[in-house]
Amino acid sequence: MQQPNILVVDDEGDFLETLMNRLKKRKIATAGCASGEEALRMVKETPFDVVVLDIKMPGGMDGIQTLREIKKIRSETEVILLTGHASLETSMEGMQLGAYDYLLKPIKLEDLLEKLAQAFERKGTAVHRAQSEEIRNLIKKT
Ligand SMILES: [Mg+2]
Repeated sequence: MQQPNILVVDDEGDFLETLMNRLKKRKIATAGCASGEEALRMVKETPFDVVVLDIKMPGGMDGIQTLREIKKIRSETEVILLTGHASLETSMEGMQLGAYDYLLKPIKLEDLLEKLAQAFERKGTAVHRAQSEEIRNLIKKT
């Protein structure tokens, strides 16, 4: 069975490390980084199934900008936004930009795992649909 491949992006080092460890402990393949720029480099290299993305990050790229770019690079990758109360409105914007869902910090691990499972499922359905479409196009050509 295919296992999900997850990328966690958060500028808070302790949070990032703790979350990655908790996911890895549950045998979920997890990579991590601390900025949007780094996330884009990693997404270009690796077809992650789901990106867990902090909205508030200092420096050049916040979560929303990063989300836009991830969707340009790999539209099939699902994104779960992490948000604080202060940026709830921004997460609504993120939903319109194609984020799968958002979670309010502090997050509960079981909530994240449930969202990860749902996002992974949706991604699989979307990929299968695209593959079926390709097969149908082949039929048309014959
Ligand atoms: Mg942050």
